[in-house]
Amino acid sequence: MQNSQLRPRRLSLTVDYEIFGNGTGDVRRHVTEPTERMCRIAEKYGVPVTVFFEVEEYLHFVKHSRELTAELGYDPAGEMRRQAADLANRGHDIQLHLHPQWYEAEREGGEWHLHHHRLTVDALFDNQVETTAYLRERKEALEAISGRPVTVYRAGGFAAQPGARLLGAMADTGLMVGSSVVKGMQRKRPHPLDFRKAPAARRIWRVSDDVAREDPEGRVWEVPVYSKMGRRYQQLTWHRLKAKFSRHVPKARQQEMMDQLGVRKTPGGILSFLAQPVPIKLDYHNLTPGALLRMIRRAPAAPPGDPDVLVLIGHTKEHSNDKEFETFLRQATADPRLKFISMADLAAQLDAGGEPGNGTDLVTGGASGAITSQIPVLVGR
Ligand SMILES: [Zn+2]
Repeated sequence: MQNSQLRPRRLSLTVDYEIFGNGTGDVRRHVTEPTERMCRIAEKYGVPVTVFFEVEEYLHFVKHSRELTAELGYDPAGEMRRQAADLANRGHDIQLHLHPQWYEAEREGGEWHLHHHRLTVDALFDNQVETTAYLRERKEALEAISGRPVTVYRAGGFAAQPGARLLGAMADTGLMVGSSVVKGMQRKRPHPLDFRKAPAARRIWRVSDDVAREDPEGRVWEVPVYSKMGRRYQQLTWHRLKAKFSRHVPKARQQEMMDQLGVRKTPGGILSFLAQPVPIKLDYHNLTPGALLRMIRRAPAAPPGDPDVLVLIGHTKEHSNDKEFETFLRQATADPRLKFISMADLAAQLDAGGEPGNGTDLVTGGASGAITSQIPVLVGR
């Protein structure tokens, strides 16, 4: 199987960089401090972290900077900005993430009021011109912070579907890669999405009007977060519960998660809930190092000619265990069949013609000279 493959399997370590989707949480505690700890550990092992920076909430922190600084004793936007610039200089990769419910958010009495009926970029405007201008502004805001080209996008809450206007805007603004699909995921609320018919859990495909439907003519690539189907109880480890329901996470957010999951609090309701088939994501904040490595090693080989890359996901606000994170990176980097690649490098390779079908292998430090030349410490893994 993949063990006999000659080329190493590439892993892309991504993290969503944001407070909670309902506007609660604290930037230092849930974003910048855990990110700093994660990136320091990653640097020990030469692993570049791809940070999906939530620009929409950031812009609102900028707008309310004076008020927030008075309230918190620090400026959250300033901290995020300084950290992203610093991480880019240290060889990490800063890419675009948006939760459109933050668009036109208001702040009243120390609380954020978000627009939860608008969860996709498609839902914000009814035409392509405004959608493209919206996305370009956010991409450029992030490039001004990181000093590097931004070429990859991940939808907040995976809510990208269908994505016709989003993908049009991505193609027009040079966001050539999306990583918003989890094969098998389906949800009715808060935003309906259905990735059950996505091409595969681990292929890379071109898209044009739906992120989960292949279009060979599409101008944008979708590189899904790797997942495999399992039963819900398989992901209800102590680990995951701790991450989701620790004191770290606001009570209101915990209740919201229970409501969204639609758990009926009867014995039969709970049992059938636990037995539901769900995609188990390659999520290093929810799986143990052993489970992650098993899943990585057992993932089917990429289709012939496709780059063999698996995208991992995590969330800064769920990072509570430095030790396990380090164990995973130590074991993964000790395996000669595995190598890490940033999403920026992956996008550059795809753009340079590393197209599934022509057999181009992904080599860290290849086509994306502008970016990798900034990664003195991290090349090689
Ligand atoms: Zn997010």
